Amino acid sequence: MLIKNTIIKKIGGKPGKTVAVFCGVHGNEKAGVYAVTNVLKNVKIKKGVVYFVYANPEAIKRNIRMIKKNLNRCFLKDNKGKTPEDKRARKLMKILDKCDGLLDLHASNVEKATPFVICEKQSYALAKIFDVGIVSSGWDRIEPGATDGYMNKKKGALSLGIECGYAGESEKNMQLAKKSIFQFLQFFGLMDKRVDFNKREQKNINVTKAIKKNTDNFYFTKKWKDFDLLKKGEIIAYDSRKKHIAGKNECIIFANASKKKGQEAFIIGKVK
Ligand SMILES: [Zn+2]
Repeated sequence: MLIKNTIIKKIGGKPGKTVAVFCGVHGNEKAGVYAVTNVLKNVKIKKGVVYFVYANPEAIKRNIRMIKKNLNRCFLKDNKGKTPEDKRARKLMKILDKCDGLLDLHASNVEKATPFVICEKQSYALAKIFDVGIVSSGWDRIEPGATDGYMNKKKGALSLGIECGYAGESEKNMQLAKKSIFQFLQFFGLMDKRVDFNKREQKNINVTKAIKKNTDNFYFTKKWKDFDLLKKGEIIAYDSRKKHIAGKNECIIFANASKKKGQEAFIIGKVK
């Protein structure tokens, strides 16, 4: 998918908040990319300023996660890296510096993935409005350099990421992404009402650990889905002879045995 303008600035007629909607931070996660493209065709911004951003255009074009580096680890103030992603992050941080809010649209590489929100406590009121059943926090600490983590350092800013479901079902999941964009813009009062806010209860999960794969002989004991609840003492995976064992009230997220040695194989969360 070729994108001509990668940063589209829409200005409302009246003063208001400045926000950003990011998609394609990971180029193969298309739900957000399709949604932004669709929303841009008919959105009317009434107040404030909205930046619609195709975050990693080259990766989107090639339908790959990244060119050289995970863009979602490059949003660090002192970033001096030389990869295309580092350069792009420096450009996009300048936009985020102007913003009061960020919505970053992602998708999961796990089949049958449950949509969920990634945010910290200060953005819980915003997280509530979206049609997802799970709100997870704690990511800043275990995975620094993400877009929302960068925004969280800014006082008063609200920011979150939404995982819109399995990346292999982007056509279907773009509906959730699209509705989330409208809900987000409505929350900040930037457009006329179009959609309702979520009314259902959400479950809170705090992520605590990112577990890396240490050997090539790594395998899971089950085909874990995101947020599968683990029984205390249950074996999650083997990494050669090392066993990964579940603790109390834990769940598993982003289980992926096909990662390279040294990369993250799964994440552990605590159910609150
Ligand atoms: Zn992603």
